[in-house]
Amino acid sequence: MAKPARIKPKANATPTAQVKQFHLWLMDAFDCVCGCGQQATVVHHPLTRHPLQRWRRDHEYVVPMDAHCHFALHANGNERKFLPGHDLAGSAWGYRAKGIDAGYLS
Ligand SMILES: [Zn+2]
Ligand SMILES: [Zn+2]
Repeated sequence: MAKPARIKPKANATPTAQVKQFHLWLMDAFDCVCGCGQQATVVHHPLTRHPLQRWRRDHEYVVPMDAHCHFALHANGNERKFLPGHDLAGSAWGYRAKGIDAGYLS
């Protein structure tokens, strides 16, 4: 029997349709996570992982952001320096819980 190929799981490359709906709802229902008050237009996948986060649910752990803030965050490259005092991984966890309450995630 052939050795199983050592392929990294990448089932997660694209969010499922269900998770896409969750992202749309997040952007619609919440302002940018940074507190600027702008309407969120993108979702950011926090670079810091929540301890309980599992890779296969990666797209469920996101925070809503304004596109400009999001661009600035990535240009900065350091979440903690860009948004001091913000726990994006913790926020993503909280948003996921809201998504479950709202029926978008299970
Ligand atoms: Zn912002
Ligand atoms: Zn991002």
